[in-house]
Order: sequence, then structure tokens, then C-alpha cells
Amino acid sequence: MVENIAEMDFDIPDSVLDEIQQNIQDIIRTFDIPEENKLEVINQINYIYTRTKYLSITDELTGLSNRRCFDTTLEKEFLRAQRYKNKLTLVMFDIDFFKQVNDTYGHQCGDYILKQVANAALQTFRKTDTVFRFGGEEFVVILTETDINQSLIPLERFRKTIETLNASYQNHPVNITVSIGAYQFEDTLSSKEEFIQKADEALYQAKNSGRNKTVLLNNSL
Ligand code: GH3
Ligand code: MG
Ligand code: MG
Repeated sequence: MVENIAEMDFDIPDSVLDEIQQNIQDIIRTFDIPEENKLEVINQINYIYTRTKYLSITDELTGLSNRRCFDTTLEKEFLRAQRYKNKLTLVMFDIDFFKQVNDTYGHQCGDYILKQVANAALQTFRKTDTVFRFGGEEFVVILTETDINQSLIPLERFRKTIETLNASYQNHPVNITVSIGAYQFEDTLSSKEEFIQKADEALYQAKNSGRNKTVLLNNSL
């Protein structure tokens, strides 16, 4: 028998939990389950369902939300910003010269650094600002209720945190930096893909202007 959901050792957003609970109620209603077994059946489905959902939206290496989760979250936030004119800033950051880390100290060390960067990002940004692993050594952050100017302080704080991380792997110091690009939502954006492309352009500028930089890009700036 599986443990009660309260004892699950993984975290999942409240909105996803609500969706799961609703679906479980629908499943239970469809079957004629004897009253005395209901709680146990609900607990079993709950565990399996929540665990599967967790795995489907989580990046295995870093424990951050994954690309799939990013796509659905950004879609929601993009529509919300279009409809209610909420402030919304999309951030992309990428570890500088990360290939060198793998080449010099090995892939295991690279994996270790990715985890360190993910933890630092989780600690720097607010709980409402979700950090995702976009792919490889690229990450995205959705800053809700934040305009481009307000994004500068947390982004610079994060950039400096990474610069001074002083990570070490098997007694070798491994110094890394990140380049960061950010773009604020505006009405002229036609899709979330265009929004991502704009944030990527900002990141590209940060890379091209010397790396270890934060570039804020916006038509109104
Ligand atoms: P730049 O400053 O231009 O971003 O240079 P870079 O070396 O970081 O960029 P490049 O795209 O040349 O290399 C990215 C490297 O990231 C290559 C790839 O092997 C490594 N990488 C991607 N995903 C993982 C992973 O999960 N683990 C490890 N260890 N390395 C990874
Ligand atoms: Mg890189
Ligand atoms: Mg990259």
C-alpha cells in the first residue's frame, strides 16, 4: 500500500494538485467502490497520479520545472498578460563557456554545476517566479507582476551570486558566470513563441557584449 499524499516527498504546484484532485473525484464517481475501500483507493490513485504528474513536469537532473511545464505556464501567463494587462517579464539565462567545464573537469562536474546553478536560482527568485530548465545549460524565469526595470535588481543579484559561487568539484575550484537576457511583455507580441524569441535576442546581446552581463531589451527602452 502506498503512503498517504501528505507524506509524499516531492513538491508540485497547488494549481496542478487541484486539477489532480478534481480528476480523481471524477474517476471515483465512475466506479462502484465499496465505502470501506474508498479511502485506500483514493490514496493509491493519488500517489500514482501525483508522482507521474510530478515526473512529467520536472527536470530529472536539477529538480527544476522542465520545458514542458514552461510551455504550459508561459501560455497561461501570456494570455493573462494579454487579457488583464499584467506586468510580465521573461528571462533567459545561459552558463558561459559551459562546454569548457565539461571538457576540463568531465561531464559529472558539468552536471554538478548545473545543479548548483539551479539551486542558486531557486534561492534568488521569489516563490511566485518560476525557474525552469529550458534545455542543456539554458534556463528561463517567468517574473510575474514585474516590469523590465524591476527585473534588474534580482537579475543582477543572481548574476553576482553565480560569479561568486566558488563552486568546487573534487577539490578543483570551478568558476562560472552566466549571461542573462530579459524582455517585458507588450501587446504587440503575437505569440508566446515571439516572446521567447525576444528574450533570446536579449540573451544573445548579453553574450555578444562580453558575457557575464544582464541585458534588458524592450521596444519602449
Ligand atoms: P556560451 O558562452 O556561448 O554559451 O558557450 P558554451 O560553451 O556554454 O555553449 P555551447 O553551446 O558551445 O556548449 C554547451 C554545452 O553544454 C555543451 C553540452 O555538452 C553541455 N551540456 C548540455 N546539457 C548538459 C548536461 O545535462 N550536463 C552536462 N554536463 N553538460 C551539458
Ligand atoms: Mg552556454
Ligand atoms: Mg546554450
